[in-house]
Amino acid sequence: TVLSNETRTVVSPGRIELGVGAVDTVGDHAARYGDTALVVATEQIFEFHGDTVVDRLDAAGVEAVVYTDVRPDPTVENIEAAHDLYERNDCDLIVTLGGGSSIDTGKGVGILAANDGSIRDFGVDRAGYEGVPNPSPPLIAVNTTAGTGSEATRSVVVSDESTSTKFLIVSANVVPDVAIEDPELTVSLPKSHTAFTGIDALTHAIEAYVSVKSYSVPDGYAEQAMERIARSLPVAWANGDNLDARADVMVGQLQAGQAFTNASVALVHGLARPLGAQLHIPHGLANGLILPYVVDFSSMAAPEKYAEIARILGVADAHTPTREAADAAAEGVLRLCRDVDLTGYLDDFGEVPSRDDYLSVVDEMTQDAIDSGSPDNNPRKPTRDEIADLYTTIYDDA
Ligand code: NAD
Repeated sequence: TVLSNETRTVVSPGRIELGVGAVDTVGDHAARYGDTALVVATEQIFEFHGDTVVDRLDAAGVEAVVYTDVRPDPTVENIEAAHDLYERNDCDLIVTLGGGSSIDTGKGVGILAANDGSIRDFGVDRAGYEGVPNPSPPLIAVNTTAGTGSEATRSVVVSDESTSTKFLIVSANVVPDVAIEDPELTVSLPKSHTAFTGIDALTHAIEAYVSVKSYSVPDGYAEQAMERIARSLPVAWANGDNLDARADVMVGQLQAGQAFTNASVALVHGLARPLGAQLHIPHGLANGLILPYVVDFSSMAAPEKYAEIARILGVADAHTPTREAADAAAEGVLRLCRDVDLTGYLDDFGEVPSRDDYLSVVDEMTQDAIDSGSPDNNPRKPTRDEIADLYTTIYDDA
């Protein structure tokens, strides 16, 4: 896409602190913004790294009010309870510690602190895209997974337990002011979540790259993200202490977040939210189950892009004819998923329903996927029946 006759808005966190030791900057950044920080984390991640963050806030003279009840795939109730704590303690900034679940909870608190209404009101199904009127209070995201890229995105994903669905909020008003990416914090990430979050990032990069909304800026982020994740995710997975590999994947997932938030996600994400909600599996695992099938389904519609993906994933080279290379892209994705034993974790993390029970909700999932709007960004737009077929095939092969 050329930009000589059109304009684009590129969103980005205000500042990004990168590298081993980057977490040391959290206190000084917080002190630029206020006196009392709501620190939002899961219990598990707070046990690992909570003292590191609270000590640095303390040293900078910033009081920490701590909320550690964030559930992975955070809920409406998480956001409401954390917001309540924020207001009761007169907080003036938010510090999230953790991956997408902590960051999205913090973003949700920011929305409620600056706007009237309940969090459900800001979902894209009700408010549309860019439907959050006022900017959030300052938000510093200390990232610990690699990952969702949420520290660089305008998205918030919230689980609504009353309907067993996840809804999406999208607004430039929630992009964090500071993103802190310290690879040392990801060393404690277990093998399973290293695989899930890394494949989530790969999915972001691929979806942004092939999206009908992509253009030069997100394409550049996406290409680099795919390269980093392909070369370093298997290394970080096999040896979690390898800081070079952890750092490479962390930068890759950041770039993948920057790619998709400035282009869009596409069919995989449309399918993944309903699937994840039904099977109760982590978001990255849901993406990874779907990704090879959607790449296979879509490659004919954007052969140049999929051929490049295949080259980056090492299943084609510069001499492979475009069509042949595009056809190989799905194999490249599958190989990377196998390298990190992605589906090996399905029994540990999922509650897989019987085939009959699953088939009984395929129609509902298909409608949910269509309603998300994401399939419209796919280079090959699926029909309703094709989406239902993809859901059935994914279950049968898993
Ligand atoms: P997560 O934040 O849910 O964390 C997964 C698990 O790993 C949790 O139990 C957590 O406590 C633990 N954990 C996290 N970091 C750890 C560490 N360094 N050491 C040990 N344990 C650690 O995982 P995630 O994949 O980063 O986030 C998933 C959520 O993000 C989902 O709700 C998903 O829908 C959402 N998401 C948001 C965006 C966005 O742009 N807002 C994008 C993609 C996904």
